[in-house]
Amino acid sequence: MEAKLNALKARLLEVNDLGSANAVLGWDQATYMPPGGAEARARQMSTLARLTHEKFTDAAVGHLLDDLRPYADSLPADSDDAALIRVTWRDYQRFVRVPSDFVAETANHTGLTYDVWTRARPANDFESVRPLLEKTLDLSRRFSGFFPGYEHLADPHIDLSDEGMKASTVRALFGELRNALVPLVQAITSQPPVDNSAVLQRYPEAEQLAFGLSVIRDYGYDFERGRQDKTHHPFMTKFSLGDVRITTRVQENDLTDALFSTLHEAGHAMYEQGIRRDYEGTPLADGTSAGVHESQSRLWENIVGRSRPFWEHYFPKLQAAFPQQLGDVSLETFYRAINKVQRSLIRTDADEVTYNLHVMLRFDLELDLLDGKLEMRHLPDAWHDRYRSDLGITAPDDRDGVLQDVHWYGGTIGGAFQGDTLGNILSAQFYDAATQAHPAIKDEIGQGKFDTLHGWLRENVYQHGRKYTASELVERTTGGPMRIEPYIAYLRMKYGELYNV
Ligand code: ZN
Repeated sequence: MEAKLNALKARLLEVNDLGSANAVLGWDQATYMPPGGAEARARQMSTLARLTHEKFTDAAVGHLLDDLRPYADSLPADSDDAALIRVTWRDYQRFVRVPSDFVAETANHTGLTYDVWTRARPANDFESVRPLLEKTLDLSRRFSGFFPGYEHLADPHIDLSDEGMKASTVRALFGELRNALVPLVQAITSQPPVDNSAVLQRYPEAEQLAFGLSVIRDYGYDFERGRQDKTHHPFMTKFSLGDVRITTRVQENDLTDALFSTLHEAGHAMYEQGIRRDYEGTPLADGTSAGVHESQSRLWENIVGRSRPFWEHYFPKLQAAFPQQLGDVSLETFYRAINKVQRSLIRTDADEVTYNLHVMLRFDLELDLLDGKLEMRHLPDAWHDRYRSDLGITAPDDRDGVLQDVHWYGGTIGGAFQGDTLGNILSAQFYDAATQAHPAIKDEIGQGKFDTLHGWLRENVYQHGRKYTASELVERTTGGPMRIEPYIAYLRMKYGELYNV
């Protein structure tokens, strides 16, 4: 059995290496590649995606897994080898249904679509990317077709990113959350608006980047195993557990975009950097779900990075970096500015209270596109309609409407957004568990110290990678299933104090 397990690990390492090489190409595509490289890059990434898929779904991998599964059952439930066999088997069952040609076609198409989107968004030109998006929708439906037995076409996509969930369970959860959020949004937005002009002055790029980097160094992001570069839409990517990179974008007329996206992506990256090194090169060396991944980015971005104790420590440092802009601004004014609740157009810049409304409408539009209730040519209008009904505002154009998020233009349609809200819900639940175990965490944040919190997350969440499913992990670390109550309580407490509601 040991020989078979080693043979499996050797094959998985090659699969991992091909996938990681492709991730390097993807990172370069989104950071430094000149536009002339786009067509060949899409083809190269498609070739690597095909080879990765062929290697993983090779019949020999299936035979090894067949032989090893009884052995896994004989191991202690908590065994890493058993987890490796179990997780690899689940992936294999999933990927073997999808033809390699389809994987290559999707990767090629996605690369070309991403390139067109990078120009379509600044040009406010949805029509230029629409035919490509029609094909994305077709590919997304065909993908679901490889998994017969689903309730909704979105289910196979949702299960891929948030295993065990489907459209109907997400819908029910979102309905419950919406009922709690809408009255809170209404109560807050009927108050006089907060003045956030302090963060909307001119902030030079170099100083913005330097400040963000200084904070995530304190957080514990390891620069020996990572770096930051600029991109169109911030993301985190990993080439190995020793090389976990982040990206950001800078607006010189808004301090918050680069800063909070940096804290966000660092949260994703610290999760990956915290995975046990002996999982390297195996399917265990990844975050366990989109929702759990997002819980880590949102925890460091919002629960820590937008908290009052955090800024009691960092605001004097920020004032020292930007004396002209912030020298006369009080901590309270700044704290209110970065937590301003408003009905806004851009999801990634949205405040914590309205953020989930942005996610929910995207989730619904994905379902409507997939099941044919919404035609692609009507998507921009449907987008504006939902913003009008859910948030009470409409974007002046598609640039800040349907073109704003990279997800559909750099991936498939279905399962792209629900993880964002699952992450918000889980961020509060994990943070509650951490502070119950270590009440000193809250004071430490006020001193710019994050060792205890980071250590608890490494111990309870990060190190395990995919060893436990999201629901197993939540059960283990918080003592129960995912619940919206800690998140709602967090929002009510923080914003009740801020807005007197
Ligand atoms: Zn994220």
